[in-house]
Amino acid sequence: RDFDEAGLHPAILENVKRCKYDFPTPIQAYCIPAVLTGHDVIGIAQTGSGKTAAFLLPILSKLMGKAHMLSAPRAVEGGPRVRAEPLVLIVCPTRELACQIFDEARRLCYRTMLRPCVAYGGAPTKNQREQLEKGCDILVATPGRLMDFMKNTNLLSLARLKFTIIDEADELLSTGWEETIESLFGAGSDTNVDADHTYLMFSATFSKETRKLCREYMEEDFVRIK
Ligand code: AMP
Repeated sequence: RDFDEAGLHPAILENVKRCKYDFPTPIQAYCIPAVLTGHDVIGIAQTGSGKTAAFLLPILSKLMGKAHMLSAPRAVEGGPRVRAEPLVLIVCPTRELACQIFDEARRLCYRTMLRPCVAYGGAPTKNQREQLEKGCDILVATPGRLMDFMKNTNLLSLARLKFTIIDEADELLSTGWEETIESLFGAGSDTNVDADHTYLMFSATFSKETRKLCREYMEEDFVRIK
């Protein structure tokens, strides 16, 4: 089966073709329909499995149908700055991974009105801040810089989040970010009238800590993909 039958939005499908992805990888074949039908997902997957597109493709497709919720009107160069209120938050442990995910998001959002941004530590905040202030629908972030930006409440709000993705969850949980991740799992869900918040988690191992997060925060009918 190829991507044509996957139920993706036509603009996103066009970007898949532009990326020269001909066939879904196994994790994509399972994850795309699960997310399109509104399920929470835990994916046990390594880098190289195509996991990034596995969560981005169905999420971007769903956002294309929610044009009224996007961060429009686009702030034009020199125009008024806006507070970033992303609909999608992707948290991952390293700057390298954040940049890779952001690159893929940019390619898959090409010629759409969806706007991805990235925030990571070990670099000056100025440029990242300026990008956020132009509007942000999809935020890829490492936890330290994310928390840093969250403290400045005028810059970033997670109140409108619809999708929360924790990538390399086992890595984040074993490096002291457990509380942060748990607080993020709570973000947004109680402020949305239609509380249809989707949680996705990717992890190399299905560890005790990862299992606990699934049990506590995901819908009972969450889908586990290995
Ligand atoms: P990831 O596991 O998300 O880090 O992806 C690994 C690499 O596979 C990335 O360079 C992607 O651009 C590429 N990729 C993702 N999905 C596909 C696909 N369906 N066909 C070919 N390459 C892909």
